[in-house]
Amino acid sequence: MDGAPTLASDKPLLDLLIAAPRGFCAGVDRAIRIVELSIEKYGAPVYVRHEIVHNRHVVDALRAKGAIFVEELDDVPDGVPVVFSAHGVPKAVPHKAAERGLDYIDATCPLVSKVHRQAERLVQTGQHILFIGHRGHPEVVGTLGQVPAGTMTLIETNEDAEAIMPADPTNLAFLTQTTLSVDDTAQVVATLKRRFPSIQAPRGEDICYATSNRQAAVKDIAAQCDAMLVIGAPNSSNSVRLVEVASRAGIRAQLIESAANLELSWLDGVRTLGISAGASAPELLVRELVDLLKVHFTVSEREMNGAVETMVFKLPRTLEAA
Ligand code: SF4
Repeated sequence: MDGAPTLASDKPLLDLLIAAPRGFCAGVDRAIRIVELSIEKYGAPVYVRHEIVHNRHVVDALRAKGAIFVEELDDVPDGVPVVFSAHGVPKAVPHKAAERGLDYIDATCPLVSKVHRQAERLVQTGQHILFIGHRGHPEVVGTLGQVPAGTMTLIETNEDAEAIMPADPTNLAFLTQTTLSVDDTAQVVATLKRRFPSIQAPRGEDICYATSNRQAAVKDIAAQCDAMLVIGAPNSSNSVRLVEVASRAGIRAQLIESAANLELSWLDGVRTLGISAGASAPELLVRELVDLLKVHFTVSEREMNGAVETMVFKLPRTLEAA
């Protein structure tokens, strides 16, 4: 905190610019509600395959209500309901659940399901898909698992886009993971379009509204900040992208899971701090961070203006009356 101006109260001054929108998106809201309603309907325990959303706070809260999180369907005992996470699952997973006679509830975000349906349609029309995404992310595993092996090729970087040699360069389409960097993806898409002018683009944008809005909000305030803290989990793709956006704007940026992970020395020399939160991070974690900062600084807090989000997704019909 060296060199920061102080008031007579002796605490250093810190201006907070809170990005908006931030935090929960409609897909995360829906997925959490699905687990809660499943527990109401079936009674605890309800099994959830993979973290329902990538946030430990959310997972712990649902665990306390009666959810049991497992990584594979094989870890779910017979005769109990299972929820599939917001990231989506390969087709083989619901098939296997049906074979075992399990009641399953799919919490896949409708915007991820939309990409799944597009992939199926493209394969039906005989097009080879170049899928832009991060290897190993559950959403990517789920999307690759919608179509037969060999019909979709993963493109992770611009270098991949430059190097790919498809069997038929005139019969290609591309799709993307929903939580990518808007800027990086634009570069990869430009490369693909330059190399394969007839490549078919998705009907609408695959990067979802929540990802784009949160990145734009961080970009908008970065120029006014000395540093940026993003609340989110290290395995949350959209949270990690927010840190990248801030870093590229030329400021120090760090991902923290919660206020408890903040090292105060990181704020040395910071007078204006930006704060955002990934789409799976609850607002409570933002408030805890602000409260902690108030203990150590004389804080002025400004909520910034950004895109207004009104998206709400319907719940699965089987749970509506729960
Ligand atoms: Fe759906 Fe986007 Fe939220 Fe992912 S980040 S759950 S795709 S709305």
